[in-house]
Amino acid sequence: MDYLVKALAYDGKVRAYAANTTETINEAQRRHYTWPTASAAIGRTMTATVMMGAMLKGEHKLSVKIEGGGPIGAIIADGNAKGQVRGYVSNPQVHFDLNEHGKLDVRRAVGTTGTLSVVKDIGLRDHFTGQTEIVSGEIGDDFTYYLVSSEQVPSSVGVGVLVNPDNTILAAGGFIIQLLPGTEEAVIERLEKRLSTIEPISKLIEKGMSPEEVLEEVLGEKPKILETVPVEFSCNCSKERFANGVISLGTAEIEDMIEQDGQAEAQCHFCNEKYVFTKEELEELREETTR
Ligand SMILES: [Zn+2]
Repeated sequence: MDYLVKALAYDGKVRAYAANTTETINEAQRRHYTWPTASAAIGRTMTATVMMGAMLKGEHKLSVKIEGGGPIGAIIADGNAKGQVRGYVSNPQVHFDLNEHGKLDVRRAVGTTGTLSVVKDIGLRDHFTGQTEIVSGEIGDDFTYYLVSSEQVPSSVGVGVLVNPDNTILAAGGFIIQLLPGTEEAVIERLEKRLSTIEPISKLIEKGMSPEEVLEEVLGEKPKILETVPVEFSCNCSKERFANGVISLGTAEIEDMIEQDGQAEAQCHFCNEKYVFTKEELEELREETTR
């Protein structure tokens, strides 16, 4: 079972998050039939998104959109404070040879010209929107840049995905380290040094390290765990929601569907679930439009 932890370290001056998202990203891969480079891109994005969701409270949620101008198109991920996350990419069947570091060439798939946007739904119709330029295309660094420049919290984001030869996910996970005001210079230097020398996060997860152990490895001390949250791929779509969409098309449009196809199909972008409306169901929905 995937989960994330929220923690504090260095006398409460450093806030930290870490997640194992292997099963969650595996489900995204299976639902969207992503090829390895696309799996890494969507997996890194969903992992960062679910950790940012953990920064929220209650029913609050966030949406992340990355558009880097590359062949993958847009990457969309939604997360909330309960560890639920969903996501998709415009073009899931994107794959390239490994890059010069022997890693999946995410930058090439994502592109390097565009934006990372975040919309947070924080209740009472309040929305917070932030947007930054894509600075790397490798996604982790792009989230780091977003948190530092848009939310003005000194942060470091590490996210990674390893893919098996059969396209399933071998390991996925990430961490976010944030400095709270008043962090001593010595602590900052120590963290910077550790961040520049640790193994890639996907390797740590592959070795079997838990989120708690990942944080200890990254931070260089045992953190105080504040909360543990289960993480899962979760989509709130339903046939009823799509039925409401059909109703909103209006009588004439539904008439057309009944006459031309005798049925209608709707597919959820986020989870790829398909909903079929039979002729009889469409006739019922047509009645709803006149009520
Ligand atoms: Zn769905």
